[in-house]
Amino acid sequence: MTEPSDLDPKDWDAFRAQAHELLDACIDRMANARDLPWTPPPEDLGQLYAIQAKGDGEAALAQRLRDQVMPYATGNTHPRFFGWVHGTGLASGVMSEMVAAAMNSNCGGRNHGLIEMERAVIAYCRGVFGFPEAASGVLVTGTSQATVIALAVARRRALGDGSRRSGLGPHRLTAYTGSSTHGCVAKAMELLGMGSNALRRIPQGENGLDMQALRAAIAKDRADGALPFAVIGTAGSVDCGAFDDLNALADLAAAEDLWLHVDGAFGAWLRLADDPWRGLTNGIERADSLACDFHKWMYVPYDCGLALIRDGHTHRATFAGRGSYLDETARGLAAAEYWPCDYGVDLSRGSRALKVWAALETYGAARLGQAISENCRRAGEMGTQIAALPHMALLAPVISNLCVFTADERLTPQQQSALNIRLSEELQLSGAAVFSTVRMGEITALRAAIVNHRTRPEDVTQAVAALQAARAALQRAA
Ligand SMILES: *Cc1c(COP(=O)(O)O)cnc(C)c1O
Repeated sequence: MTEPSDLDPKDWDAFRAQAHELLDACIDRMANARDLPWTPPPEDLGQLYAIQAKGDGEAALAQRLRDQVMPYATGNTHPRFFGWVHGTGLASGVMSEMVAAAMNSNCGGRNHGLIEMERAVIAYCRGVFGFPEAASGVLVTGTSQATVIALAVARRRALGDGSRRSGLGPHRLTAYTGSSTHGCVAKAMELLGMGSNALRRIPQGENGLDMQALRAAIAKDRADGALPFAVIGTAGSVDCGAFDDLNALADLAAAEDLWLHVDGAFGAWLRLADDPWRGLTNGIERADSLACDFHKWMYVPYDCGLALIRDGHTHRATFAGRGSYLDETARGLAAAEYWPCDYGVDLSRGSRALKVWAALETYGAARLGQAISENCRRAGEMGTQIAALPHMALLAPVISNLCVFTADERLTPQQQSALNIRLSEELQLSGAAVFSTVRMGEITALRAAIVNHRTRPEDVTQAVAALQAARAALQRAA
């Protein structure tokens, strides 16, 4: 045995015992997720976490992780957590994250196992989404970053290679999307120098973008000397889970010579679900780029998203370019033709592919797809129960996994909003269920997004009953 270096444990056997015990605590936490809703963190948590940097050692760390860190989670591991669009995580992730930490691979490039694994994940996704062999991809933090990557490639396609050096030049690039598109698209437009004003918002109904308004907006911009370059469709909107008609958008993109980007953050994975939900993704295979997440509807632990690009050549041409210290060699560690850093912003990067690979190999696409279908069934059941309650009303049809409603339609929009917000707070604080809210026209509505493999029919029934009881209590008190 060599002398342990300064930062390694002094006693590996002691570390082994501490780590095993901590692993047991992690598994207990996961096995008991059903009994662990979100609870508000104590007010002095900031003080508790204030860095002392005294070097307390691994035994103290294990204890603090268990007692001071693990209890204060977001709560999205709980089966009645329906807020925002938060994935649950998977037991496979506990194993794969542990191995990733032990390996500590840098997945920017070079010749090692987890680069091949990322390649395998991208190849699998190409197959799922019907992209051609020449398509490329990169795993990123999430859909927000994937959108920046995708629109950077679209911009490069519109302006040519010179734009990497000269920027936008005199061109006024414009893009088109629906009124309820996620904010990450506007943010990408800002970051890429086009500005969010250049993102035209087209009216959007339950059946997607208004195609006539879209054509008119493109024609107007062309007449005004702008350079329309991309149309962004949504597969699963954050407000109500709606899908654009992706085939109609692909036809339009082809006719107008535009790049079709699809935001499928969670909805893209309906590709693995049963019909009718799978059918909502029809046309996704025609996109020029797709952004989606593994940390929402594939339940993979945070964080992991995907940018998938049809034209792998332009993708690489947008990002490749390394210093000479990163040159490939014929043999050895630097001998690898595929360097993920050539396809995105990051040079040094962790091994996100491992947790995706682990999830797919552990559970299989059929079981993951089944869990996704079940989530949609639960949303449908919630919709039916809400609609049957006196004065509660759905504010959008349940299309996929989102249920959006108001707690008392007899009230004014302002009163309804106040009641809905109050109810979401009460239910969160009581630990009964987590609903979040969303603006629907004049009303701040209650919203459930079910992306939780633990949610059973009785969880939906209990959550709706808790809502009804809380409404009754509030209205009695008023
Ligand atoms: C969550 C979400 C995003 C943003 O994805 P992140 O992974 O949070 O960056 C974008 N679009 C839609 C439709 C989403 O639901």
